Amino acid sequence: MSFNSLSAELQARKQASLYRQRRTLETPQQPVVQVDGREYLAFCSNDYLGLANHPEVIKSFQQAAELYGVGGGASHLVNGHSRAHHELELALAEFTGRPRALLFSTGYMANLGAVNALLDKQDAVFQDRLNHASLLDAGLLSGARFQRYLHNDPVSLDKRLGKTEARRKLVVTDGVFSMDGDVADLPALADVCQRHDAWLMVDDAHGFGCLGAQGGGCAEQFSLSGEKLQVLVGTLGKGFGTAGAFVAGSEELIETLIQHARTYIYTTSMPPAVAAATLTSLRLLRSETWRRDKLEALITQFRRGCESMGLSLMDSPTPIQPILIGESDQAVAMSQALEAEGIFISAIRPPTVPAGSARLRVTLSAAHTEQQVQRLLDTLERVARERGVI
Ligand SMILES: *Cc1c(COP(=O)(O)O)cnc(C)c1O
Repeated sequence: MSFNSLSAELQARKQASLYRQRRTLETPQQPVVQVDGREYLAFCSNDYLGLANHPEVIKSFQQAAELYGVGGGASHLVNGHSRAHHELELALAEFTGRPRALLFSTGYMANLGAVNALLDKQDAVFQDRLNHASLLDAGLLSGARFQRYLHNDPVSLDKRLGKTEARRKLVVTDGVFSMDGDVADLPALADVCQRHDAWLMVDDAHGFGCLGAQGGGCAEQFSLSGEKLQVLVGTLGKGFGTAGAFVAGSEELIETLIQHARTYIYTTSMPPAVAAATLTSLRLLRSETWRRDKLEALITQFRRGCESMGLSLMDSPTPIQPILIGESDQAVAMSQALEAEGIFISAIRPPTVPAGSARLRVTLSAAHTEQQVQRLLDTLERVARERGVI
């Protein structure tokens, strides 16, 4: 069989400005990165607190590699659960105020594993329309009746829950929506869940580190205990600056995941040194509150600048600050023009976001300086004028 049908499809994607390409970084993840020998100011990583390249995190990683070697060597249930993993689980449980926490190798796997361990054909899953792809995939794979409710709309959820006769009901939402940057109305969603005897699962990949006084994310910001928010998912590759993910919750929940979550059982544990590095990044994430203060100041600076030049922002209090452009080709052209000026911002296009809502997804980090944000604003203004966006 030839690959002609694949080439035709790839070609069509290029023509529709939907083709995706990678850049190869020659530096750590940091505000100024190098690609092909040239320096760029980047506003597209999820390293919100600037911990991915922090000297203490690196040191813990190195020391643990001396102690534990590199590979986990086996799955957690076979022989791959090290003391470093265990200590991190205990620390994450304490941090989230949950009885237990369980590590997964990625956030994608945590979501697939958790939803599929909890639900099957007799059950129903209710998802926000704008949930992350891994949550949507998790729900579809489970075989449970799959329903989407209107974005961040407790009334829409309430209606759907009112009609179901499923055995178990699981409501799933991003805490901070990854493409819009807005925060889920968790207190209202939790009340609806309680009324309908449904569980609430929150994937707070972008909330941890950024929201809450100690960086405990949406659960801390809204003071939602395990009674109201039963399944709390965090990822470690964003605010924590390392890699992996965890699910936090009750003893029964975690034991159920250990027994039934296939993405937990049938995969090698994350490298123990990653767990050890994360223990250090967790300490920094919690205690160095200046990182959240700095982020907040940069977010304010950025939003003021964009608003005064007439760029269209979304309702986001978080470091995810998308600029709505509309058509994919215009978003790509803007992103390319910025790149020519030495600034990286990704253009996010359908199918990641709804048709007609292509955007430039700016993400800010505590590692950025006020001067760097000002340079971004000045360049954005010039490029947006040239292209008739403002
Ligand atoms: C990034 C992300 C994930 C996936 O986490 P990984 O650890 O990168 O696999 C899951 N959910 C949301 C909301 C995310 O933004």
